Amino acid sequence: MAMNIILMGPPGAGKGTQAKKIIQEFAIPHISTGDMFREAIKKGTPLGVLAKSYIDKGDLVPDDVTIGLVKERLSQDDCQKGYLLDGFPRTLKQAEALEGLTKEIGREIALCLNIDVNKEELIRRISGRRVCKNCGAPYHIETAKPKVAGVCDICGGPLYQRADDNVEALETRLTHYEHDTKPLLDFYQKRNLLILLDGEGGSEKLFAEISRLLNEVRDD
Ligand code: AMP
Repeated sequence: MAMNIILMGPPGAGKGTQAKKIIQEFAIPHISTGDMFREAIKKGTPLGVLAKSYIDKGDLVPDDVTIGLVKERLSQDDCQKGYLLDGFPRTLKQAEALEGLTKEIGREIALCLNIDVNKEELIRRISGRRVCKNCGAPYHIETAKPKVAGVCDICGGPLYQRADDNVEALETRLTHYEHDTKPLLDFYQKRNLLILLDGEGGSEKLFAEISRLLNEVRDD
């Protein structure tokens, strides 16, 4: 079966960290709507200007915009042998659109992995998070320091704090997760695609579990 995977979980659950490991090990494209929006913001495109007005407040970018973006990306050739969706879908409307689209193009979802972490830990992780401006690699000021302060170990790029990684925006993002995204667990459970993962036990242990699950899908 093609490795068509969704990675879900609240902000700070470790989706980005796991996504980086998954795409390296399984050689599938990483489709992160958050990264796509941040790229558009950096370039100053009309999409970027629109997205920024929502993202900085912690709000969700409207469904039609986000769905259009993913539709175009998933139809590209490099997604033929699999893809990793990170941060999409986040609403029921997006999940329904994704289901229709993936059926239409014969790239249906094989697995939905949900990483869960308690709220206090999410706040701790997000408030100390730093990200590489060049390659997006995540760090933490206490628990995942770079070798040289402020510099990415991987590409040497500068580290920065995301504009939406502040307490107010985070509260809004967590509320959106509870109201808009959590209902998707039921959506994927009903389709027998959902796997619940504990994101509190360390990233190596979590990746070992994800790796095992993905190897099962690959070997089907
Ligand atoms: P992320 O990097 O996944 O945490 O996403 C950062 C921000 O981008 C989110 O807080 C939203 O404002 C926006 N965003 C990313 N993915 C989506 C999505 N699927 N639907 C709506 N907004 C999104």
